[in-house]
Order: sequence, then structure tokens, then C-alpha cells
Amino acid sequence: MDKEKKYDAIVIGAGVGGLTVGTLLANEGLCVLILEQCDRVGGRALSIKGEEISNNGLQWYKDLLAAQYTYIAGAQPEIDTIIGQRMLDGYTLDVGYHAISANGVGYMLDFEELIGGIEGVNKHGGQWASYYKGKIYKDLAGHSIDPELKELAKKEKIPYLDFYTDPHRMSDEQIDELEKVSLKEWAEKKGITKNDIIYNHLHTVCTLFSTINNPEDISIGDIFRYFKYAFGPKIARGLTGYTGGFVEGGVMEWSKAVAARFESLGGDLKLNSPVKEIRVADGKVTSVVVEEKDSGKVEFTADMVISNIPAQNTFRVIDKKNFPEKWVNDTTSMYGYGSYAPYMGLNKLVMPEEHAHLGIKNTCVLPMEEGYDYDVYICWNIQSVLDPRVAPEGKYLYTAYLPMTEKESLDKTLVNKLIARLPDFMEEVYPGFKDSIDWKLDLVCWKLEGVAKSVSQAGTQKVPVRSEHVEGLYFAGDTAKGYGVAMDCAIASGVICAGEILGKDFGIR
Ligand SMILES: Cc1cc2nc3c(=O)[nH]c(=O)nc-3n(C[C@H](O)[C@H](O)[C@H](O)COP(=O)(O)OP(=O)(O)OC[C@H]3O[C@@H](n4cnc5c(N)ncnc54)[C@H](O)[C@@H]3O)c2cc1C
Repeated sequence: MDKEKKYDAIVIGAGVGGLTVGTLLANEGLCVLILEQCDRVGGRALSIKGEEISNNGLQWYKDLLAAQYTYIAGAQPEIDTIIGQRMLDGYTLDVGYHAISANGVGYMLDFEELIGGIEGVNKHGGQWASYYKGKIYKDLAGHSIDPELKELAKKEKIPYLDFYTDPHRMSDEQIDELEKVSLKEWAEKKGITKNDIIYNHLHTVCTLFSTINNPEDISIGDIFRYFKYAFGPKIARGLTGYTGGFVEGGVMEWSKAVAARFESLGGDLKLNSPVKEIRVADGKVTSVVVEEKDSGKVEFTADMVISNIPAQNTFRVIDKKNFPEKWVNDTTSMYGYGSYAPYMGLNKLVMPEEHAHLGIKNTCVLPMEEGYDYDVYICWNIQSVLDPRVAPEGKYLYTAYLPMTEKESLDKTLVNKLIARLPDFMEEVYPGFKDSIDWKLDLVCWKLEGVAKSVSQAGTQKVPVRSEHVEGLYFAGDTAKGYGVAMDCAIASGVICAGEILGKDFGIR
């Protein structure tokens, strides 16, 4: 790496959004440098091998998690025993539950096609379903509709399928208008709330997409825009057969493959390089300053700097004085959504085989009366059934995601209630579950979704990809303009950002 070299663009952060914009720019012939503070690419879409934890110890693990807004809230047995006895060896742990939307055929596929493909990534698709009053209802995937939901909708004349078909009939303007409309409001107007089974089912789907528990806060417009643009063209190509999926060997394999593509296109990637400052002169970016472990401060110059840092943390690296006070306040006060994200190592499967293959969602593990903003939802998978590589032979990896607001994620009492509740909940549904647990790790992240896709913040209401206040400054990632499920949203934002820089239409506006 040549420190004297002047880059066309410097990207701060090798998260999904940073890698997306950096690779697209390199693909168009720009000279690009990506600077990443951690020892690996992927940002929050991080994977850790059990052996790495056993070998490097608890503090190393905690530090790596903390860099991605995640902490260990509990463990069973004690975390020192889990690590000391190397109980995690053979497992691959993504930071929390980390499924990819529609098995990667949304914006992920659009981006892969734009850069001419990536190598060595396998994806394992699966079906997701809701669990309500003792019954399983499958999500719509491709053209496969749950027969009971279809029958119920027909009998009670409830326009259940409008949820999936309306977006494709709507104009961009109509979708824009719905950005500030909640799931609840839309469903009430449609008459969908009349039937609790159908409404509950759509609620589980919307929480899966938005990470928000409260249906009065979920932006229906954000979901519709995602359906129309990320999935619409793929329906025609017959690609939308799965609700979700997992990247083989852990979600980070995807980022590693993109980083390899970036470097093959001539891009420079520098790990262990925390950026301390973006320098600005006469209202224009000029360079970034990195604090290197061995050589101290090093400056890299470019006329364009793209920040992949969650937007609320922008001012850790650039002086607030460069922006109007209102913009600073608005940006720092945007709220994200976190999650209780437990893993369990299981020695047997006690649920019916069909359930072990599904991603199962439920709208209430704990009711809001327990002190939460809204009833707490869960989505769980036996990840290793879809991808056996993430657990040792003869064992199984259970992962789950229970959304909590950022504030709740940092509230010990509320977190501990969920930790206590989860094994009981699973035991109620599948007797014998508790006995199948070898170990359990209770991770909590407070920034799963950088900016919650709420009626007041979704999509076009996020930080614009081009700064209106500092020339040459751009933003990419799940806190900047973009749509859809978290990783896809970070990708969309990276594509929008590259389009803005290059003056090109990459198909995501
Ligand atoms: C526990 C958990 C579970 C999740 N589950 C899912 C899921 O199931 N499905 C899904 O689609 N999404 C999921 N997500 C969300 C998804 O991971 C994020 O939305 C996405 O990865 C965000 O990417 P990003 O590029 O916007 O930001 P980030 O991943 O935050 O990337 C920012 C990068 O910048 C680096 N950085 C920060 N500051 C500096 C600095 N000063 N100098 C240099 N580098 C810096 C960071 O280390 C990081 O690599 C989950 C997230 C978490 C935490």
C-alpha cells in the first residue's frame, strides 16, 4: 500500500455497505482504498469459529463482539467453563442469528450480478413459518401458499394475498406515501385485522423484514418497496422459492468473497486500520487519518470519502462544525433496533423433523406488560440443519432472534427476563428441549438494524448517501438511504451510493 498514492475514493469500514460501494467503484475503474478497524471484513455480518474463541479467550471474544455493538449477557454453563472446556469447538457462530433474506436473491443477487459474480459462496435456502395457537402456517415462497391460510382468507373474504401482490401494482409515488403508514393501519384499512390468524401471520413476516415488534411502528411502504424492486424481477425469473437461508460456513464468507473480488479489481483493503479523522478544508474532504498500531498516525488522501460507520457515530471521525446543528441532532437521534440473539449447542433434536427445517416465528414470547415496548417476537432456526458445517458432527446449532429496541437491549432487567424465558418457551412447545441443551450463550446486540424501519425513519427518511454539507463526503450502510432486510438494506444503500458517485443508474433508486 502506497501512502503517497492519491485515491479516487476511500471507504471507511469493510461492512456489507462499505464492501458494496467500494467494489462497485473499483469495478468501474476507480482507485479505491477500504480501511477497516477490525482484523476481518464483514462488520456486523461477522462469523467467529468456536476454536478462535477457545484459543484466544474471553477478552478477545468480548472485544470483537463489542466492535459490532454486541455483548455477552449470560451463559450456561458459566462462560469460563464453556471456553475452558472448548465446548464451542466445531461450531461457527455468526454474530447472533444471521439469516439472508430470500436466500440471497434480493438486492444481494443484484449486486453480485453487477460485479460479475463472486466465487466460493454457497447458500442454503429454507422455508419460514409462523407458530400460532399450536399450529404452523407457512410463509408464502414463490407460488407456494399455505393451504390453511388460503382457505381461511377465501372463507372470510380477507384479502390476505394483497400483501404480496399490491406492491407490484403500485407506482413509486404510492409506495413513497406508504413509507409513513404502519402495518397496523394498512391492515385495518384492508380488513385484514378481522382475522387474528391471518393478521398474526403477516405480522410475523413484517417483523422478520423490519426487526420491529410493534405493528404500529413498522413501515409498510419500506416492505412494499422491497417486494417490488428486490423480489419483483426475481419472481419473473422463478428465483423466489425460499423465505430465507444461511451462507454456508457463516455469513462472513459472503463478505470475504466480495473483498476478494474487490482486491481482484485492483482495490486496496487495509485491516486493523481504525480511522480517527476525516479531514475537511474549505468545505471539501481532503484525507483521512488512521491510527496504526506500529507506525502511529498515517494520512491517506482522496477527494471522496464514503463513511460506512453507522450514521449516528459519524461525529466520532468528523467535526460536527462541518454540519448544521439540526442535521447533527437529527442524525444522532435516529434509533435502531437491537436483539437478544442466543445460541445453543444441542445434542439431539426433540422437535418434529419438519419443524427442524423451518425458520419458526412467533409474535409473543413475553408480553409488553412485562415492561417491553411491545410483545417480544421470536424467530428461531436449527441453523445446522440447513447448513451442517456450522456444528460438529452429531450436534446441532440453534440460533434465534428476539428483537428489542436499542434501549431495551441495554436494560439488564428486560434482557434477563428474556434469557430466563426462552428455554421455558421452547420447552412448552417441544417437551424435552431443555434436556437437549449442551451449552447456551446469550448474546445481545443493540444495533442489529442501524436505523429502525419505522414509520418515522424508513427508506428515504434515512441519511442521504451524498452529504449536502461537505463536498466529497458520502454514506453507505444500513443507516443510509436504502430499503429492505438489514443486510440487503446495507447492500441497497451501497449500490445507491455508487450510482450517485458515478452518475449511473444501477437499478436501485
Ligand atoms: C446480532 C445481529 C444479528 C443480525 N441478524 C441479521 C439477519 O438475520 N439478517 C440480516 O439481513 N441482517 C442481520 N443483521 C444486520 C446486518 O448484519 C447489518 O444490517 C449489516 O451487516 C450492516 O452493514 P453495514 O455495512 O451497514 O454496517 P456495519 O456492519 O456496521 O459496518 C461498518 C464497518 O465499519 C467499521 N468501522 C467502524 N468504525 C470504523 C473506523 N473508525 N475506522 C475503520 N473502520 C470502522 C466496522 O468495524 C464495520 O466493519 C444482524 C446484525 C446483528 C448485530
